[in-house]
Amino acid sequence: MDNQAAPGVASPLPPLSGLLPAEIVESCSLDKSFQGKQIFKWIARGADSFGLMTDLSASLRSHLAKSFRVRSSTIGERLADGDGTVKIALALADGNVVECVLLVDSEGRKTACLSSQVGCPMGCVFCRTGQLGFARNLEASEIVDQFLVLNAEFGPLQNIVFMGMGEPLLNLDAVRKAIAILTHADGLGLSRRRITLSTSGLVEGIRDLADNGPDVRLAVSLTAADPAVRTPLMPITRSNPLPELREALLYYQEKTKDRITLEAVLIGGVNTAPGDVDALRAFIDGLQVTMNLIPWNRVPGMDFKEPTRQELEDFESMLEEKGIQFTQRARRGRGVSGACGQLGTVLKKKSPA
Ligand code: SF4
Repeated sequence: MDNQAAPGVASPLPPLSGLLPAEIVESCSLDKSFQGKQIFKWIARGADSFGLMTDLSASLRSHLAKSFRVRSSTIGERLADGDGTVKIALALADGNVVECVLLVDSEGRKTACLSSQVGCPMGCVFCRTGQLGFARNLEASEIVDQFLVLNAEFGPLQNIVFMGMGEPLLNLDAVRKAIAILTHADGLGLSRRRITLSTSGLVEGIRDLADNGPDVRLAVSLTAADPAVRTPLMPITRSNPLPELREALLYYQEKTKDRITLEAVLIGGVNTAPGDVDALRAFIDGLQVTMNLIPWNRVPGMDFKEPTRQELEDFESMLEEKGIQFTQRARRGRGVSGACGQLGTVLKKKSPA
């Protein structure tokens, strides 16, 4: 029997789901390199125990089960919304909990929304995760596990968005490693172009991504382009001012030739006025961007208001008048607190180690 940790119980065994084939060979002291590929492939196909890896010898399976775990997390609470959204909590070995979400659009396309941190240090005041504070960065295996769990049950999934809990550019090494694993040709072989990394606007991280990859799609949670409006909503604006963010996006565009998505969480009476559209127009001058409008989703205990239908229509008309391309994100997952800005309902807070 494999040494899989019981839910919520710490296991001392190292997981293999955060390793590439050559690293599996080395970590497991395997005789033959093809065995690393075999194990990597099984993990990518959703095997969650060594017993399922039937093309390995019984003695190797037994050796692996005594010394390693397949994944680093176990499946905890799950909530399903009538619109197809499913939110799954994963119990991590140290007792923390992280959430991932299956999103299904109106045409049936499935996307995995993954978390990169337990909690988030960015403190966006309209976001539940931001109000819970920060516990720690996720390991690559803990990021990969989220996709494996969703893919095993609802797959095949082709799209990933790093829009769950956390700021991915603050955990870029682990995010890079997870992307390398998920796109590896010996495993799932996902396309990097179907992976979107969403940041709150970390200038240094955007430049790092432009210089060093991976070549994924970039989304930036802008929300407002007037510093007087954005700073109280997104405190990151103080340390990463809008002019520097704009310069970093111009640099990213120049290096990658990619169109950038700018997300705007629209909050009733806060960032939907004509002046907000003027500020957006000025910010995007010279940038190839698409705006993604996200009507704010209600979070208990927060005083903000959802934008009215009229407010949204007026805002969209103003964007059209200014020649700004936009899409509006369908409001999905609200019934399970799985929509944008709502993650963190089952987070167990821990102090950073
Ligand atoms: S919106 Fe994103 S960056 Fe801001 S607090 Fe929430 S999870 Fe963190």
